[in-house]
Amino acid sequence: MVEPEGTLADRLAAMRAGIADAARASGREPEELTLIAVTKFHPASLVRALHALGVRDFGENRHQEAREKAAELADLDGVHWHFVGQLQSKKARQVREYASVVHSIDREALVTALARPADGEATLDAFLQVNLTDDPARGGARPDDAPRLAELIATEAATGLRLRGVMAVAPLGEEPRRAFARLKAISEQVAIVVPTATEISAGMSHDFREAIAEGATHLRIGTAITGPRPSQE
Ligand SMILES: *Cc1c(COP(=O)(O)O)cnc(C)c1O
Repeated sequence: MVEPEGTLADRLAAMRAGIADAARASGREPEELTLIAVTKFHPASLVRALHALGVRDFGENRHQEAREKAAELADLDGVHWHFVGQLQSKKARQVREYASVVHSIDREALVTALARPADGEATLDAFLQVNLTDDPARGGARPDDAPRLAELIATEAATGLRLRGVMAVAPLGEEPRRAFARLKAISEQVAIVVPTATEISAGMSHDFREAIAEGATHLRIGTAITGPRPSQE
């Protein structure tokens, strides 16, 4: 992988420009797109630096790490934590304590676990993660199961979940645009059963252009902004 160039501010500016270009190339407005800076494995100080540069949406994929960072950064204004990683059902409830959005709901047990807010807890925004590979061990629901799970989330929404749309990671070894085109078709199926759930969380450092071309609304960008992740244990 090529090391990102320049300072954090340069890389963020380059990514914002790249997103705006890709949006216009697809006849879309850059304002339709939410950039989520994925800060997993990076220290809280990096989140603080990105916040100073105007970033408000941050993605994390491990509950323990996310919880610690959110607590350490509780003084920052207007931060939205997006949980994007695989989630154990028995830990799921705790994610409500800091996250505004969970992108990785992929099975009934998670819907049930998340859909019980404590008194005074805010509504949690939810994306239904879909598995675009043939490997059932990967995170995500089967595409043909997506409408059923979407309906279930929408039903449970009465008790604190709001389905925003679908999420996926492009499989390795497949042209990302083809994979994202499948996700768009799944999104259309979901919108038939839950008409308000039209958003698409897709696109990472190396495939955000293809995701934007296929209708992504939420981009999850890590290394292109942050630089390489510190050792992942
Ligand atoms: C780490 C991660 C990203 C960001 O990936 P980069 O290639 O660093 O941009 C996006 N989505 C999920 C689910 C991730 O775990």
